[in-house]
Amino acid sequence: LMINIRMDIRESIRQFLVSRGYGRIRLKAVLFDMDGVLFDSMKNHTLAWQKAMAARGISADRNEFYLYEGCTGKGTIDQFFRRIYGREADEKEVEQIYQAKSRFFNEMPTVEIMPGIRDILFDLKKYGLKAILVTGSAQHSLLDRLEKEFPGVFLPAYRVTAADVKQGKPSPEPYLRGLAKAGVRADEALVIENAPMGVQAAVAAGIFTIAVNTGPIPPQKLYEAGADILFPDMLSLAAVFGEIVGLFKEEYLCQERRSPTTSE
Ligand code: MG
Repeated sequence: LMINIRMDIRESIRQFLVSRGYGRIRLKAVLFDMDGVLFDSMKNHTLAWQKAMAARGISADRNEFYLYEGCTGKGTIDQFFRRIYGREADEKEVEQIYQAKSRFFNEMPTVEIMPGIRDILFDLKKYGLKAILVTGSAQHSLLDRLEKEFPGVFLPAYRVTAADVKQGKPSPEPYLRGLAKAGVRADEALVIENAPMGVQAAVAAGIFTIAVNTGPIPPQKLYEAGADILFPDMLSLAAVFGEIVGLFKEEYLCQERRSPTTSE
C-alpha cells in the first residue's frame, strides 16, 4: 500500500511540473489553511450555520455548508437566499444571520487540534521548511490559540487572515499574499487544504496542492477543484509527509519525463 501511495505522489508531482512548466520544486515552505486543517473546527462551523439558518426559518442540510467553506458570510447566506427567495440577502439580514452564526460557534465545545497535524509540523521543523498560515477566517477564538497549540511554528509575519486580503478564496490572492510574506515563490512551496474553494485558490496561485478530506464532502469535489493529490484524512497524510518532502528533492523527476523526447 505504501508503495502505491509513493508512486501516486511521484506521478502527481511529475504531472504538476509538466503542466506548470516548472523545472522542479525546491521546497522551502508549506502553506496551511486553518479550519479543517490545523483545527478540527468545521463540524462546529457547519452546525453553527445550520442553527443560525434555522433561527431564521430556513432549514438547511448541515453537510451543504462544507461545500461553502472559504466563502464570505454573505456568500454562504446568498446561496440559500437565492434558492428560497430568489434574491440576495441585504446588509441587515447578512449581519443578523452572521452574528447568530458566530454566537452559536462560540457557544460550542472547544475545537480540537486536527489529529496528525502535529506530526506534519514536526516534519516541517526537521526539514527546515517555513510554515505559512493562509486563512479566510477572522475567528479570534482560533487565531489566538495558534501560538499556544503550535508554539513558534506560525510566525505572526507569515500569517494571512481575512484582514490581509481584498478577495477571499477561491481567488488566488490569499495564497499569493502568503508566498509574498514569506519571500518564497510558487515553485518553492506546497499547500495543504481541505475545502474545494481553498484548493481552487491554491491551484490558481500555481502551488502544488495537497487536499485532505477531513469532512464529509465527496472526494470528487476536491479533484474537480484541481487538487494535485488527495488524502482521506490528516493521519494518512502525516504517515507519508516526510516521504513527500523527500520526493520533492528528487531532481530526476522531470528529467525522466523529458527523456522520451530527447532520445528521438
Ligand atoms: Mg479549511
